[in-house]
Amino acid sequence: MHLSVGPAGRVLAGERTGQRAPCRSLTSAVRQSSVGTVTAPVSCPRCGQLVRPPGLWSDAWTCAEHGAIAPVHAPVMPSDPALSQIARRSQVPLWLPWPLPRGWLVSGVQYAGDDHSGPVATALALSGPNPLVIEVGDALSADLVVVAEQPGVGFAARLAGLPGLDPGPTLAAHPSDAHLEAAGHATPMWSFAIGPEDPGDARAGVAYVGEALGEWLWVITWPRPATAVLLDHFTLVDLRDPHHVYDLPYGALSPRLD
Ligand SMILES: [Zn+2]
Repeated sequence: MHLSVGPAGRVLAGERTGQRAPCRSLTSAVRQSSVGTVTAPVSCPRCGQLVRPPGLWSDAWTCAEHGAIAPVHAPVMPSDPALSQIARRSQVPLWLPWPLPRGWLVSGVQYAGDDHSGPVATALALSGPNPLVIEVGDALSADLVVVAEQPGVGFAARLAGLPGLDPGPTLAAHPSDAHLEAAGHATPMWSFAIGPEDPGDARAGVAYVGEALGEWLWVITWPRPATAVLLDHFTLVDLRDPHHVYDLPYGALSPRLD
């Protein structure tokens, strides 16, 4: 049986050849986007490197290595206005685990996309108590990032510390091993370990990947035992739903956004 976990059957197609930008000096690259008088750093969703704004040679933001990309804007402290602004303009869901796992806070929001497209990838971070503290020295806190993105953006893979746009062909080698509820639909998810092999390393986590509302859905957790929060009827709501009431508990900005 052919397993397909990605939108539009492109799941495990691997690297997409990006449009190459005209050869120009990196020294003239900029990492700022301007909105009126406000400037904010922006970066490539795939490598985090300097990106160049639309100009004479291209009508898209471009990365010297990856060509035309959807620029990633700096993470921001979550608030009702910040979430509603992103949700209102977004082409992809802005997923919120709801109800929140017990004791967890919303700890940041970030997106990729330009002024014309609006967000084509969104990431919502949450932080809370590590649900499985067994030994002295185990991390007491845990982090979770929920990402929705269009195929080919690559921001979720960057947050997970993976090269390329998606988990690659190894994912289809096993059946889905978890189910979430997203926008009222049971959603199969495929998991794999990310980061160093040592589970005690703060960078060691687990990523779950699936498809919901026609877009990639990633749920990334650190440290690895934090996956336990997904076992307790983990349900996602789309904050683009105008009927959703915000008024959420907010915490300090998560270091897992980038
Ligand atoms: Zn790049």
